Amino acid sequence: MAEKIRVEQGKLVVPDHVVLPYIEGDGIGVDITPAMIRVVNAAVEKAYGATRSIEWMEVYAGEKAYQKTGSWLPEETLETLRSYVVSIKGPLTTPVGGGIRSLNVTIRQRLDLYSCVRPVRWLGGPSPLKDPSAVNLVIFRENTEDVYAGVEWSSGSEEARKLVEFLYREMGVSDRVVVPDAGIGIKPISPERTKRHVRKALRWAFEHGYNRVTLMHKGNIMKFTEGAFRNWGYEVAKEAEFADRVITEEELWDRYNGEIPEGKVLLNDRIADNMFQQLLTRTSEYQIIVTPNLNGDYISDEGAALVGGLGMAPGANIGDAVAVFEATHGTAPKYAGKDKVNPGSLILSAAMMLEYMGWKEAATRIYEGIRNTLAEHKGTYDLVRGWKKEGITDAVELSTSAFAEEIIHHM
Ligand code: NAP
Repeated sequence: MAEKIRVEQGKLVVPDHVVLPYIEGDGIGVDITPAMIRVVNAAVEKAYGATRSIEWMEVYAGEKAYQKTGSWLPEETLETLRSYVVSIKGPLTTPVGGGIRSLNVTIRQRLDLYSCVRPVRWLGGPSPLKDPSAVNLVIFRENTEDVYAGVEWSSGSEEARKLVEFLYREMGVSDRVVVPDAGIGIKPISPERTKRHVRKALRWAFEHGYNRVTLMHKGNIMKFTEGAFRNWGYEVAKEAEFADRVITEEELWDRYNGEIPEGKVLLNDRIADNMFQQLLTRTSEYQIIVTPNLNGDYISDEGAALVGGLGMAPGANIGDAVAVFEATHGTAPKYAGKDKVNPGSLILSAAMMLEYMGWKEAATRIYEGIRNTLAEHKGTYDLVRGWKKEGITDAVELSTSAFAEEIIHHM
């Protein structure tokens, strides 16, 4: 009988036959989610035979939930994601400029999934880089604070006017800086939430064999939010857990002649705009990038572009133990139901989920299947479009479902 994953003393206890909740997702969710499930089931079977299995349990969010229950994100769904500890979701629609709040942001905030973790690795997709094999990154995007907190008021609203008045009257802000009818958004960044996020990234580095962690921030301009993020990050490095294992850039040159010693991790920082160009020009010097929410959103897409686009970029939202794995891209509504888009992002997120559960052999099968398929230049339209631009003429375009079958065939 399949059972739930449990958490005991902060550690996951994963039964051999496990129940995993999934949200199909809106738009192209109908295409990519069944493809992901087929690939994962095949990988688990190839890796473990009948000794391990997944029982998939659908839970509802987004349009499907609204049709069935009248709620976009039922409490029952949130409770299930929390109590089953590990789950996976397709993309969910967010209307721009009004209406319901982002369901993704709500899930992250309500379950306190404070780090968004996005590995960026090249498995053979098209890339603008001369040497895409140099990309081996994990982006840690803070998930609960920053301008994403949703604390904002529209231009001309009573709340915005009140706040602007307060800024003039109590805080000495001039009306040349904040004009009376400005819309106002608040950017909260706190020590406790920054530090738990940085701790997770440093632990990830040690557990997964990385030796460079970079704090990405815009602290030269936003001193008390992004600048403080950087300073709090360095404070984490001095905590007992890390003090004798983490070195700064200064120590690297003063004491170690520029070579990171075995068993140590270098913690450095880069200003956000510089980070964007360095990722293109000095790619191999970056491994784990830890950053506040908005920077993390932008840099994730740059990362995805380096390894084959949004269709190849996995991600997970992780709290102290609870984790929701997800496709990084949106619902791409124009392609919904056409069996056309790339299921790679969700499949790679599922591989990451298997690793998180300790089912590494099954994850390896998935990476193998994808690598071997891409090596033959077989893939969905987005990959073929990229390969053609690179002058590759033998690329074969597959549908979503055929790509999934090909991955299974190549495991
Ligand atoms: P999007 O859905 O990510 O699509 C933008 C473009 O990216 C697509 O038109 C397509 O490019 C490419 N793309 C995305 N997924 C792909 C895939 N699996 N395979 C191949 N190509 C893919 O972004 P959007 O159009 O800005 O947003 C649509 C909706 O999704 C919005 O409601 C947004 O709020 C929501 N959204 C949800 C999430 C989430 O659930 N985590 C994340 C982002 C956005 P081409 O047209 O060039 O082929």
